[in-house]
Parts: sequence; structure tokens; C-alpha cells
Amino acid sequence: MPPQAANSWEARAEEFSLYGFTDLPSIRERGTVVVTHGEGPYIFDTNGKKYLDSNSGLWNMVAGFDHPGLAEAAKTQYDRFPGYHAFFGRMSDQTVELSERLIGVSPWERGKVFYTNSGSEANDTMVKMLWFMAQAEGTPHKRKILTRGNAYHGVTAVSASMTAKPYNSAFGLPLPGFIHLTCPHFWREGAAGETESEFTTRLTAELDHVITHEGADTIAGFFAEPVLGAGGVIPPPAGYFQMIQAVLRKHGIPLISDEVICGFGRTGNVWGCETYGFVPDVIISSKALTAGYFPMGAVMLGPDMADRLQAAIDPIEEFPHGFTASGHPVGCAVALKAIDVVLKEGLMEMVRAGAGRMEAGLREIAQHPNIGELRGVGYMWALEAVRDRDGKVPFEGHLSVSERIANTCTDHGLICRPLGQSVVLCPPFILSDGQMDEMCEKLEAALRQVFAELA
Ligand SMILES: *Cc1c(COP(=O)(O)O)cnc(C)c1O
Repeated sequence: MPPQAANSWEARAEEFSLYGFTDLPSIRERGTVVVTHGEGPYIFDTNGKKYLDSNSGLWNMVAGFDHPGLAEAAKTQYDRFPGYHAFFGRMSDQTVELSERLIGVSPWERGKVFYTNSGSEANDTMVKMLWFMAQAEGTPHKRKILTRGNAYHGVTAVSASMTAKPYNSAFGLPLPGFIHLTCPHFWREGAAGETESEFTTRLTAELDHVITHEGADTIAGFFAEPVLGAGGVIPPPAGYFQMIQAVLRKHGIPLISDEVICGFGRTGNVWGCETYGFVPDVIISSKALTAGYFPMGAVMLGPDMADRLQAAIDPIEEFPHGFTASGHPVGCAVALKAIDVVLKEGLMEMVRAGAGRMEAGLREIAQHPNIGELRGVGYMWALEAVRDRDGKVPFEGHLSVSERIANTCTDHGLICRPLGQSVVLCPPFILSDGQMDEMCEKLEAALRQVFAELA
């Protein structure tokens, strides 16, 4: 434990709070950063130290930490009508407004929206919808779910089963029937001598083979993030979604785009599927949906899936599912404002305008021989550290290289996220040019220091 007064914020955090997804050796050595407030893209801790948060909180605080319009939208709605559900034929006017708006910005002419409190619950809800349809359609064995290696779809028992990360074995997950295909990461998974398009062809053949082998009539859906986020910011290889979607269509399997990170501007368009030129059957949204100012997730069904679900509901005249706070009026009011802030008040334009500067700054840093790959799009990038660039040899696991980088960045007043052997940068959209440069300079200084220590 670092020297701390017994009643310090850090000690009190340690005493009574559990940490999710936290490297405990780092906490023991360094203590907790207890955060009090934010300004623009910066956060401040209880000691008054200021940090540039290059991860937008957890990808979600795209408008920064003190956006007046978003706070105002919440306050106004709290005064008007502070909470309600969406059960038993009632829902708030804000919920009605938001669904219309979401379908209005969707890739479809029409569709239906169902609300949750988180991205995990949205994916979980979508799986339940698929299972519900399978039951109603007389194909109760159509329950298997396909995802890809390194995918992150959440932490509830079902969405964790879709999340193809080794740590889920600590829970005895995945549940049966959750199948993980090869991660579409060309740099890491591409075979010797294989081109990117040959890699795509191989993954497409794998998908076709798995579907045929398992039986197309046993597979309920295929879930994919347009760019894998928590898997380490992995954009798809060339032509990937077009080829995958053709196989799925051939077998009658819906494609669900998990846009929890990509949605609302992160890739420079409203949706990641737009950036990669495909129209999915379903979109899962959360995170930037409320710019992080309210917990909310949404399942957005395109026309075919909306019709299928309706047909499944008709015989029993009810969809027996929902959360107490589904479609919360304050969440919906905040989301309506967040959509305006991102799409009408110029935030998405800032991503489009700043993406080149971000890439150029990071390319400069990626010259270092201990950076194996720089990858990303828009305002989501990762730098992967390697011991040896040519052999793509990672640093020894016990060196915890990405934790070291993230901790050194924290010392320099920059928050960034360790992920595997990568460091992730996904700043708020409001970043100024000067703040972008500050991010790159602090990152570069931290990387130099860590790589020198490990040389
Ligand atoms: C964060 C995330 C989720 C889970 O969202 P929570 O709100 O944390 O439950 C699901 N899918 C993707 C792609 C995510 O990045």
C-alpha cells in the first residue's frame, strides 16, 4: 500500500468497494484514483491532480465531462417527470420520441426499439428475442449464437458467453451453444504469406463450415462489433462484412451489429456498419447513446426482425420481458439531447475533422521499434507493444507491459487503457487540436520511459 492516511479516499475505497476489471497489483502499489469532477476531456482526483481522459471514461463520455446541454436536459426532465417504466401499455412521451428518433437515424425505413439499462442487457435481450422467436416458430433448437474471438459483448451470463475472452473461463463460461469463430485480426491471425483478402476468404469459409457443421437450423444469430473494441480496437479486414453477410443470408441467419462503441460517431459516421458498408438486421446501442450521462441501452430491430418478433408475440399477445427502468424518461431525454449534440451540434464532424490528426500523431509514435501495430479508425485506435517487431513477439507476460504503460501515462496525467499488450486511445469527440497534441506527447513520453526500462 502506498502511504495513505487511514481515512483517506484511497483507503476507504480499498476497504469497502469491489473493483471490476482492475489489475490488483497496480492498486496495491499505487492506490485508487478517486475522481471528483471533470472539465471538457479532463478529470480531477481528490488530490486535485488533473488527467486527460483519452478513453472518454469507458468510450461513452463523447461530449466530455461537463456538457451544459446534457446536464440541462436531465434537470429539465427530472423536474417534469423523474421516472417511469414502459410496462402494461404505458410509456413516457420521451420514450416515444426517442424510438422515433432512433429509427429515424437508423439504416432502415422502419423498425422497433426496446430499451435496457446497459449494453450487456441489450445483447442479452436480443438473445432472448431470438430464442423467443425460435420457440414461437416451432424451431426450439434454433438457439446457438455465433460471435468472434476477442469479441466483447458484455458481462451478464449470456453476454459474457458471447464475449470471447479467456477470463470468462474463471466463471465456467461460456454457456453451451455459444460458438466463437476466429478473431478477424489480420496482423495477428493472418497466416504466413496470406494476403488480407485471402484472410477474409478464409474466415468466410470458416463461418460457412461452422454453420453447415452445426446445422444452419440450430443457429439463432451472428453478433459482431463493426470494429472490435475491448478486443483491442480491431477493424475488419477488407471486404469482411460483405462476404460474411452473404454467407449468413444464404443460411437465413440474422446479422446483429453490436454498435455499443461504434454507434453515434466513434468511427466518423453515425454507425460503424455505415463506415464498413453493410446494413445489419439489428443494431445494439449503448455508451455514446446518452453520451454517458445516463445508463441506457437499446435493441434496434430492422423491419424483418421487427416483423418476426411481432409474429412471435401475436399468439401469446405479450412479450414477457423488460427492465424496471427500460425507457426511463430521463434517460430518453438525455439520449435525445445527446443525439442532437453528436449529430447536429458538430461532434461527429469533429471526429471526421480530427481523425487524420490523431492518426498522424499516433503514426509518429508507432515508429518506435517496440510498437508492432497501430490500428484503428475515427477516434478509436490501439498501439500494440512488442518485444520484437519483425517476429511480432510479445513482451513476457509477467512484465505486464500495457499496465506499465497505462500506469506511467497516469503519472504523466494521461488516462489510457491497457488491453492485452495494447494501449487504447478513444478520446472524447470535443478534443481540441491542442488537447490532441497533449495526448500524443504524454503518450510518447510514457512509452519511451517504459520501453527504456524494459530494454
Ligand atoms: C461496453 C460494451 C458492451 C457492454 O455494455 P455495458 O453497458 O458495459 O453492459 C457490449 N458491447 C460492446 C461492443 C461494448 O463495448
